[in-house]
Amino acid sequence: MSWMKQMRILLPALVLALGLSACGEETPAQAEIFAMDTVMTLTAYGKDGEQAVNDTRQEIQRLDRLLDRTESSSEISQLNERGSAAVSSEVFSLIQSAVTYGSATGHAFDITVAPVVSAWGFTTDHYQVPDQATLSTLLRHVDSDQITLLAGEDGGTVALGQDQTIDLGGIAKGYTSDRAEAIFRAAGVESGSISLGGNVYVQGSKPDGSLWRVAVQDPQNSSAAAVVLELSDAYAVTSGGYQRYFDQDGKRYHHIIDPATGFPADSGLLSVTVVAPANGDTDGTQPGNGTMCDAFSTALFVMGEEKALDFWRSGDYAFDLVLVTGDGRVVVTEGLADSFEQSEGSGYAYEIAH
Ligand code: ADP
Ligand code: MG
Repeated sequence: MSWMKQMRILLPALVLALGLSACGEETPAQAEIFAMDTVMTLTAYGKDGEQAVNDTRQEIQRLDRLLDRTESSSEISQLNERGSAAVSSEVFSLIQSAVTYGSATGHAFDITVAPVVSAWGFTTDHYQVPDQATLSTLLRHVDSDQITLLAGEDGGTVALGQDQTIDLGGIAKGYTSDRAEAIFRAAGVESGSISLGGNVYVQGSKPDGSLWRVAVQDPQNSSAAAVVLELSDAYAVTSGGYQRYFDQDGKRYHHIIDPATGFPADSGLLSVTVVAPANGDTDGTQPGNGTMCDAFSTALFVMGEEKALDFWRSGDYAFDLVLVTGDGRVVVTEGLADSFEQSEGSGYAYEIAH
């Protein structure tokens, strides 16, 4: 990973005001690492904070190797190469969740979009605009309902449809945040935050008892927030077209592909942030709300404001939203009405959706 590439990747959500060391109080255990093509920051207060941060760092590196389809030894690469493979129970559950979220979102989220993502060069950084004939051919194979999942004793067998490959880039960080929550809980961390390049999880409240302040980046100004969310025990996951892109012939092409067209999604939204509660005291073996938020932030960015709000109103899944629209509005769903702070001078008009 070149430094140039790191520089180009902006962080869409950040946890603000970390640390109380300036006040002479508790200093947290912290780590900053680069994995899954992004900068990640871990912070944990309390006596076992150091252990929690170190364990989480190792878990992130393990998952990066497990889920990266550009890493030839990963389970996902093996599956993509063979079309059918026995996988670990972890990968099995994650693919199962991805397929479920694909159906739930009318395939706005679809992990079989992989060959299309590759055709645009987002896996190699050799960016190009594919021609329509290429896209049409590739799109014929985009349909995660063609994936067959056969559960076994420990894990199971996954069979992809003909000419299909999968890309878990749209949920890998979300799943990683689920695992991080489980590790923080097992270590007894009462106060901490995990920021995985746009996937934020906050555990408990800040050590002084106040809520965590999570900034949702202004998609049009990398050094400003569109809104600040005050949260505890929650996930806040942002997808936006400004996170990874290339420019060609005066046009901008970003990395979130609309599986209906094969082109970067152009739904009128600049970013989508999905907020949901922590998983709590589960055994941490199944994908949880971190994974859900990640899948839905990608999907709802593709769907656009109207469909995204309809999906939220359907109540099939419990989450809240912050939508930043191309026409200068920040739409916040009612569950967050008392938890957000407008950004002074941002120029956005703020609305609550019911
Ligand atoms: P980021 O990875 O920047 O946080 P997302 O969570 O929105 O953003 O995931 C985008 C990644 O997911 C892309 O880089 C690509 O690997 C994959 N992807 C792109 N479009 C889709 C889609 N419609 N459904 C599922 N995965 C997608
Ligand atoms: Mg996502």
